[in-house]
Amino acid sequence: MISAPFNVSCGHCSNCERGLTNYCERANEPGIAGAAYGFAGMGPWAGGQAEYLRVPWADFDALRLPEDGRERQNDYVMCSDIFPTGWHATEMAGLSSGETCVIYGGGPVGLMAALSATLKSASKVFVVDRHPDRLKLAEEIGAIPIDRSKGDPVQQVKDQTDGIGADCGCECVGYQAHEQQGNEDNSITLNWLVQSVKFTGRIGSVGVFVPSDPGAPDDLRKQGKAIFDYGMHWFKGQAMGNGQCPVKRYNRYLRSLIHENKCKPSWIVSHELPLEQAPEAYKNFDAREQGWTKVVLKPQMKAA
Ligand SMILES: [Zn+2]
Repeated sequence: MISAPFNVSCGHCSNCERGLTNYCERANEPGIAGAAYGFAGMGPWAGGQAEYLRVPWADFDALRLPEDGRERQNDYVMCSDIFPTGWHATEMAGLSSGETCVIYGGGPVGLMAALSATLKSASKVFVVDRHPDRLKLAEEIGAIPIDRSKGDPVQQVKDQTDGIGADCGCECVGYQAHEQQGNEDNSITLNWLVQSVKFTGRIGSVGVFVPSDPGAPDDLRKQGKAIFDYGMHWFKGQAMGNGQCPVKRYNRYLRSLIHENKCKPSWIVSHELPLEQAPEAYKNFDAREQGWTKVVLKPQMKAA
């Protein structure tokens, strides 16, 4: 059995040679670096939620799983995308052992960032969300849940960091973020992070942002622009890393952490469903239905 990164990458271009498989120069149309399966603007590759998947440059991209691959497939499946992506957020945030880390977003990627921060021995990991099922999962691995429906998340983080803010932070929400009143606001979590992270702290942003968003509520945001608090970000001397994760940089090692019983990323899985029930699963996940924290689709399963 193998694990295929969500990045499609050639292995030979100048970016791939430097380990930047997230910005392969050959897998998308000329002028655009980076490709992925089934993702808008990420090249001609059909989606990964399928019985069969065509994997170009498979000799380069595929990662072999150990003999417990089948038995632990709910853990290893996370190595294709969300586990490395969460790990990458903490890497870009420059997290060192003993530091505090605030993570905005308790979805699958945010929870994987929390798991990664825990594995890297952060002293305190905060997960900010407003859904109780996600906050409960964060708490299960020792993270501190911050329920933003119960008040200003920035203040809640500062209250637990001597008023200074966290050492570093991760953006795991993306452009479809919502402000406290429930309106879509693509910059709200970025601006909360600028406030929640200390002077000179770093931020890793892996939540998806897009160069154009036709469904956005106003003209500025339709053009992919954000009202980002750059003044405060600069004033605090912070740094921020952005973009998709180069899965191959991490997946071999995350595989080993699973194989050697150092972590169990499948703790977030709420549903295992056959492929036929994918539309229902997407609908429930998208609507943030209580209890739909992570779905694993299994083509070999029969519909109930
Ligand atoms: Zn390449």
